[in-house]
Amino acid sequence: MSVPFTVPAFADGAAAAVLEVLGSGWVTTGPQNAAFEKEFAAYLGAEHVLAVSSCTAALELCMRALDLPPGTRVFTPSLTFCGAVAAIVHAGHEPVLVDVDEDTLVVTPETIARAVRLHGSPGAVMVNHMAGYPVDPAAIAEAAGLPLNRVVEDVAHGPGGTVRGEQAGARSFAACFSFYATKNLAMGEGGAIATYDGDFADRLRALRLHGMSKDAWRRYLPGGSWRYDVKEIGLKANLSDFQAALGRAALKELPVWQERRAKLVARYDAELGELVRLPARPDPERHANHLYVIRVPGRDAVMAELAEAGVATSVHFIPVHHLTAYRDLPGARELPVTDRLGEELLSLPLYPSLSDEDQGQVVSALTSALRRRSAQCV
Ligand SMILES: *Cc1c(COP(=O)(O)O)cnc(C)c1O
Repeated sequence: MSVPFTVPAFADGAAAAVLEVLGSGWVTTGPQNAAFEKEFAAYLGAEHVLAVSSCTAALELCMRALDLPPGTRVFTPSLTFCGAVAAIVHAGHEPVLVDVDEDTLVVTPETIARAVRLHGSPGAVMVNHMAGYPVDPAAIAEAAGLPLNRVVEDVAHGPGGTVRGEQAGARSFAACFSFYATKNLAMGEGGAIATYDGDFADRLRALRLHGMSKDAWRRYLPGGSWRYDVKEIGLKANLSDFQAALGRAALKELPVWQERRAKLVARYDAELGELVRLPARPDPERHANHLYVIRVPGRDAVMAELAEAGVATSVHFIPVHHLTAYRDLPGARELPVTDRLGEELLSLPLYPSLSDEDQGQVVSALTSALRRRSAQCV
């Protein structure tokens, strides 16, 4: 009788794909990684894709490879996952927290322009495609007075959204994806970077594995040599071939999963519209439908009632500046919209295997919780 908040989607071919890697004798970064990178690049329509161990690592690698002076101020929304802001810090820079748009939950040219008036121009901007709402990096770059190669995109809630009619990340300088267990495309753990810039891709390829000029697989290829050099000290952020194989299997089913997500979203929209403030929809772009986020005054009490009715929900996100380690970051005291949202955002179950019946249970539990509350208020 209970509806989980999320259930990871693994493809039908997932188990066979993992066993094949096990039998192949090559389990770390190798042929499955190379094939996944090619296939994901084709899916996005992107020039270069690099698979890495996580989206957090992808963000840190990109922030490092921008070659900004140490301590550069980087705008980031506070309404994001804490790991994204940590990536800026670990790269040696200073996050400056900025507010988001009240309807779309993402940074917009207007919120960025306001942040520039408050804090001056940043050296770079990190944006979050929150819940799957697509962000146009070119518009953000322009508002910040920066070139496009100073915008790092957190597309952990993609893939599936579109920007200017193409897949989010297709024309990006630095688009970072997550393949964590709950994301639209899941490997358990994993990430990727998409970029149009070949030199940036080459640097990232070395930086993701200690800065080595050749990874182990390429050293063992016919004609490969045991010799390598390290020109720049990198991270250990490569992906195993087990995970890449899972990703390849998932990629085949992703369009079907995205269709199911869109259908579930349409039903929530249709059945909840009179009760709550619905999530904004981009037009004419496509939303990646990773999360279904509504706004509910008295959110904590409603969540508790839903839990009692067997419906698990979650919160995306606790604004970063409400977390102890981040509360004194620059900008933390000038986030009125994010502060309001932090009390009201509620994420409902949304995943391809969510059945019509279970979704019905979510809708009816939420309806009765909200009706009870409004009856108490009069
Ligand atoms: C999940 C998530 C991340 C982190 O992804 P990992 O692959 O777990 O590192 C970063 N940003 C956002 C917005 C996320 O939701």
